[in-house]
Amino acid sequence: MIASTISCAVRGIAGVPVTVEADISNGLPNFTIVGLTDRAIQEARQRVSAAIRNAGFTFPGRKLTVNLAPAELPKDGSAYDLAIAVAVLVCDGRDLPLVGTALLGELALDSRLRPVAGVLPMARSLRAAGVRRLVVPEENAAEATLVDGLEVVAAPSLAACIHHIDGSRPLPPPQEVAPEPPAIDLVDISQVRGQQTAKRALEIAAAGGHNLLMVGPPGAGKTMLARSLASLLPDLDVEDSLDVAAVYSLRNALRERPPTVLRPPFRAPHHSISRAGLIGGGAGLAQPGEISLASKGVLFLDELCEFPRTLLESLRQPLEERTVSIARARGSVSFPAAFTLVGAANPCPCGHLGDPGHVCSCDATRLSNYHARLSGPLLDRIDMVINVPRQPYGVIFDESGCGERSADVRARVELARARQRERAASGAGQRAAPSLNVTLDGRSLRSACRPTAAASQLLASAGEHLGLSARAYHRVMRVARTVADLEGEDRVDEAAVAEALRYRDQIAA
Ligand SMILES: [Zn+2]
Repeated sequence: MIASTISCAVRGIAGVPVTVEADISNGLPNFTIVGLTDRAIQEARQRVSAAIRNAGFTFPGRKLTVNLAPAELPKDGSAYDLAIAVAVLVCDGRDLPLVGTALLGELALDSRLRPVAGVLPMARSLRAAGVRRLVVPEENAAEATLVDGLEVVAAPSLAACIHHIDGSRPLPPPQEVAPEPPAIDLVDISQVRGQQTAKRALEIAAAGGHNLLMVGPPGAGKTMLARSLASLLPDLDVEDSLDVAAVYSLRNALRERPPTVLRPPFRAPHHSISRAGLIGGGAGLAQPGEISLASKGVLFLDELCEFPRTLLESLRQPLEERTVSIARARGSVSFPAAFTLVGAANPCPCGHLGDPGHVCSCDATRLSNYHARLSGPLLDRIDMVINVPRQPYGVIFDESGCGERSADVRARVELARARQRERAASGAGQRAAPSLNVTLDGRSLRSACRPTAAASQLLASAGEHLGLSARAYHRVMRVARTVADLEGEDRVDEAAVAEALRYRDQIAA
């Protein structure tokens, strides 16, 4: 007799439904699992047979074969345990109504269900594939209930799952996740004193999604400014917030960021982070890295020059493509990486170059090495470079001029983004590209900007005087487009270009 149940694999942040087939035939007692499985799944044989016995059921004493289909899809991890155990019990003669039901969870030897990573993306894909009822470990129930139209069963154990499905002892429905109270921004931009140039640059970066490098001495407030950038970004819509939560689910990190939060993520990894930690990867199931946890939000790299050069190099592809693909032994997987990069660096190794209050102690060789490092691997994807000087004490302790609050700036950012979306929609015929100005390049950039005659003239003369490369020219245009969007202008004018030229990369020059 053959029985089958439904479970799920994860590729990147998408779930792929998996059919678990069990077959019992006459022959010596034996338990085989086939279907491109890893070691964790092979070990499922021990967990499943012990759990079935310890739940008070009988494990079939004959030749048992379990197949996970589709066979060509690589499968990792322990989330198939429950579906395998239930398929074995049905195959052995237990009558269970399983139409439209999927099962996820790792079994302990005593038959309790243990939580698994990635339940949210799996639940979304299973629902899209027509699954109506999903059995998950109790700890994973909250994320599964976020998916509309899915009846979630939170089962503490294999026995509880079987008794719920056969109707003999129904489980209570899991508690709905209470929506989070509106998040309070960790740093409001009004808390940063002075730094008007930097604040303006942050507003532009938020509006156009531009990557930004802040250069300034220690203690000038670069970290606080970076944090306040996150507070200038508009709320995510529900679909986007579920995409973000799916990445956190794969990292088992939903406790750090409850899935109902609509604020864009802010991540600030330390420069000692591993490649797998930053970019993604690791042993077993491929895990998303910090750049994916920061997707649709801000990735802040403080002390940019302290990050290993190879690590910074590996950010170039994700910055370009807004996704990251990670090579695995059994095919590559991709994760989202649509983050805004904010880097912070000291102006020189000692930190005091250009600081009126201190003398820089760096010699010329050290300085030029440092600048080479700063301008090397990433700078061609950074649209804006700003100087963040130390503030005079008078400004730091001035209680009067706190300036605008984040919510006020965010309102302007939202309008500018609406203009970008509108323009992208009207330029239809092209693929449904992301609408932020940071993604504009080549032809789409030219057609989006439509510079006025004066603006074109300024660009041409700046190009000549400053020796702008093609890349630098594109950076100026992208930023100028966002400045014009903040002004509500359809065309890029002279003032917008002039402002964009001020944020151009002066380190590499
Ligand atoms: Zn120095």
